[in-house]
Amino acid sequence: MTQINSKIPQGPLAAKWSNYKDHQKLVNPANKRRLDVIVVGTGLAGASAAASLAEMGFNVFNFCMQDSPRRAHSISAQGGINAAKNYQNDGDSIHRLFYDTIKGGDYRSREANVYRLAEVSNLIIDQCVAQGVPFAREYGGLLDNRSFGGAQVSRTFYARGQTGQQLLLGAYATLCRQIGLGKVKMYTRYEMVDVVIIGGRARGILARNLITGQVERFAAHAVVVATGGYVNAFFLSTNAMTSNGSAVWQCYKKGAYFANPCMVQIHPTCIPVHGEFQSKLTLMSESLRNDGRIWVPKKKEDAEAIRAGKLKPTEIKEEDRDYYLERRYPAFGNLVPRDVASRAAKERCDAGFGAGTGDAVYLDFADAISRLGKHVIEERYGNLFQMYEKIVDDNPYETPMMIYPALHYSMGGLWVDYELMTNIPGLFAIGEANFSDHGANRLGASALMQGLADGYFILPYTIQNYLADQIQVPRFSTDLPEFEEAEEQIQERIHKLMNVKGKRSVDSLHKELGHIMWDHVGMARNAEGLKESIEMIKKLKIEFWSNVRIPGKSDDLNVELEKALRLADFIETGELMAHDAYDRAESCGGHFREEHQTPEGEAFRHDEQFSYVSCWEYQGEDKEPVMLKESLDYEYIVREQRDYKS
Ligand SMILES: Cc1cc2nc3c(=O)[nH]c(=O)nc-3n(C[C@H](O)[C@H](O)[C@H](O)COP(=O)(O)OP(=O)(O)OC[C@H]3O[C@@H](n4cnc5c(N)ncnc54)[C@H](O)[C@@H]3O)c2cc1C
Repeated sequence: MTQINSKIPQGPLAAKWSNYKDHQKLVNPANKRRLDVIVVGTGLAGASAAASLAEMGFNVFNFCMQDSPRRAHSISAQGGINAAKNYQNDGDSIHRLFYDTIKGGDYRSREANVYRLAEVSNLIIDQCVAQGVPFAREYGGLLDNRSFGGAQVSRTFYARGQTGQQLLLGAYATLCRQIGLGKVKMYTRYEMVDVVIIGGRARGILARNLITGQVERFAAHAVVVATGGYVNAFFLSTNAMTSNGSAVWQCYKKGAYFANPCMVQIHPTCIPVHGEFQSKLTLMSESLRNDGRIWVPKKKEDAEAIRAGKLKPTEIKEEDRDYYLERRYPAFGNLVPRDVASRAAKERCDAGFGAGTGDAVYLDFADAISRLGKHVIEERYGNLFQMYEKIVDDNPYETPMMIYPALHYSMGGLWVDYELMTNIPGLFAIGEANFSDHGANRLGASALMQGLADGYFILPYTIQNYLADQIQVPRFSTDLPEFEEAEEQIQERIHKLMNVKGKRSVDSLHKELGHIMWDHVGMARNAEGLKESIEMIKKLKIEFWSNVRIPGKSDDLNVELEKALRLADFIETGELMAHDAYDRAESCGGHFREEHQTPEGEAFRHDEQFSYVSCWEYQGEDKEPVMLKESLDYEYIVREQRDYKS
């Protein structure tokens, strides 16, 4: 049987990363110049990695689909980034950040990785401040912090509601410096369409030039995938429209394990769906839960009157409001983790207490405005309030916001070991594209922390341990048969798609997939629904390959073809997610199996059976995938039923 080796270093938890760095192989400066690295992606993970590797002396080829690296999806991140600085003196520490993250992930992540993440978190803030990232400051001059879910300390650094944008501009500036110095060759408007494996190692990629439609070949000594998450499989999500799981899927099809595919996050505070013609959902940052209070009417008749437009939320008296998170989880209140808050909202709406169409709860700032003044709320969240008003046409300073859970983040992704390398030597995955640190549920403000930890502080070390053995390996020719064969396959796929000439638009098929996923693989899952979804997705795949219509030509700019190629992969990814969700007959974090809940409706884990990372291995077209297990052995933390009540 294949052994899963996560390569966790020896020694006590707090010493593992130092031990690793003390003993890893290094590449000397002269040899670095002879080594090429492909980095796919320019979000926070990709841009920070590309800039850091180039700064160290490697030659970097960096790819992104957008017209500029700084338009990567990371730019939309709003609320903040975690670090254990303890500036507030409220009891934070590296251990506490580690503990909160493991507990938040419902004990389904690796202790050693998460500890390292907490350890390097403070370096990220220093790095970004040095780059000039304008973090909010408090009166004394120190950087300010706010609270995010799943923590009882304030450890989230922020730049209003635009933290991702400011961090990405910092990373982009460092990247540009390296582009200017000629150490990074930047390929914008290029989409990776396959990874090339030579002699069992990742040695290059194929990328489609999105302007000309030409497929081009690129060789390197190592490939880093930083292509973000795959939740757009659900069609509607908070992710950017072009966020996709295709690069991850291509690596999976070439033999890389796909870890925990069913583990996706549903964010509790998004603007509710308002119609069939919508193509995108908008997040209202978790930071709003610092000051906003979540409630629904206590009485069903009030909820009905609100839905019928006969009553306004502001007319509901205080005693007739149910602040259900504060009621159910007194210790964490509105700042319970996302999975818990999402399920609680669904429970109230399903019970008939929802507002709007019935699938909405209120996020109310009246208390905070009367306590702090409107100007303080405006200072903290002004851009988010403005965004809400533009979309909903309602003033959230006067009327509570309406929110509902929506797809947001993928905890699953390419399996990586402690070095962030997949099981294919030379193929690394960082940021949201890997599965590494968040277990079954990511805590708010931890994705930016992980992406930048991977890119600035972890990969630059670990990749050297691999590249040190590659210094004798000459550059590869892209005329090798492995490149030839990969290109033939992708050209054949494109040709096949263009020639379906069916009747249905890519979006209509994608929407159908989204409905299947939301209804059966969404916030509440059960064995029967999951089995059914697998059959439905198989049928949809047949429909897609026999009835999709792609106008235009393949050797030209063709957005419909781009979408179709991604949808073909989303369909297969969706099926794997359903498989994984079916197989994991327990509830943990964002994976909620209705058959496995406590009497209070909380996620009920089965540690003795499911304390593992599910690592799926591709077996070939239309063949059932095989699942391998990486056991999660906890040495330092005792697994408990998650409790946010006391
Ligand atoms: C609305 C919103 C708000 C958020 N707010 C926060 C927050 O406040 N705090 C927090 O911690 N997290 C937040 N998150 C999550 C966080 O933003 C993401 O997890 C993180 O930015 C992902 O970064 P990344 O570098 O891994 O990927 P991305 O930023 O998604 O970048 C992916 C890159 O890969 C490129 N790419 C993709 N596929 C290909 C391909 N095939 N070929 C070539 N290039 C490709 C893209 O062009 C892009 O450059 C938020 C997410 C959303 C949706």
